[in-house]
Amino acid sequence: MVIGSTELVAIVGSPIAQVKSPENFNNWFAAHGENLAMLPIDLHERSLEVFLDTLRGWQNLRGCVVTVPYKQRIAGCLDALSERAGALRSVNVIRRERDGRLVGDNVDGEGFLNAARQQGFAVAGKRALVVGAGGVGSAIAYSLGQAGIASLSLVDACNERSGALADLLGGAFPELPIESGAGASLAAFDLLVNASPVGMGDSGELPLPQALLDSLAPTAHVADVVTSPAITPLLAFARQRGCSIQTGPQMAIAQAGHLGHFMGVTPLQL
Ligand code: NAD
Repeated sequence: MVIGSTELVAIVGSPIAQVKSPENFNNWFAAHGENLAMLPIDLHERSLEVFLDTLRGWQNLRGCVVTVPYKQRIAGCLDALSERAGALRSVNVIRRERDGRLVGDNVDGEGFLNAARQQGFAVAGKRALVVGAGGVGSAIAYSLGQAGIASLSLVDACNERSGALADLLGGAFPELPIESGAGASLAAFDLLVNASPVGMGDSGELPLPQALLDSLAPTAHVADVVTSPAITPLLAFARQRGCSIQTGPQMAIAQAGHLGHFMGVTPLQL
């Protein structure tokens, strides 16, 4: 129950009704007897700057998760950013310091790595293909670079996006071999990540042509960021092929501890 002394965290985006964080966090707070609560905030873009200024003065608020469409815009308005959030120019979580300063981080990629570890897959030294160079794909690719991936290939329907991500990663990880495109065969990849929305809903779509997917090694680990359905057409194919798989909901759950830990309201592993 929310009482006068309850401390708050929030999640801001628009729309907001679809997000799972409030039930996940509020269930965790209740189960652990914490006098904390999470509020969902559907914010009109015209109020973004006023909102951030209000957060600075909101003394019983510890932090705020940031979701679509504000991850990039908010990154440009905070008082400090983690190194990766600065490189990605995107945040998905804000901590309010006691003096009111707002500090941002992006833990999408850490959630991905945490989920991979939980599935028994270690990324160091592996060869990866990431499809989708948008917000989530960039964060995952950056975290793969930090975690010691051996090589990274990038595919995006928009060449400018994959090119911009390759430039960003080349600056951050000068030793990392970065390729554009999937090539003629997937046989050499240890990790395939779909970080595009392809496969959402009942579209039945695959993020790569079937003929190319047929070259995937059964030893590969295949991950999808799409949360609904949990088993996307890509993951259904990969499972049938004998690959280990990692779902979007597993990534979201694995990320919750990183969000809560950054705001100072949960441990890293929930
Ligand atoms: P975004 O719009 O920033 O990026 C998506 C990218 O995919 C774009 O660059 C686009 O050009 C590319 N793309 C679209 N269709 C493609 C195709 N057929 N082939 C190759 N590339 C294609 O979106 P985002 O914020 O990165 O989100 C991507 C997905 O991740 C969404 O479905 C979102 O719901 C999901 N997501 C999951 C989690 C999680 O924890 N599982 C967290 C955040 C977002």
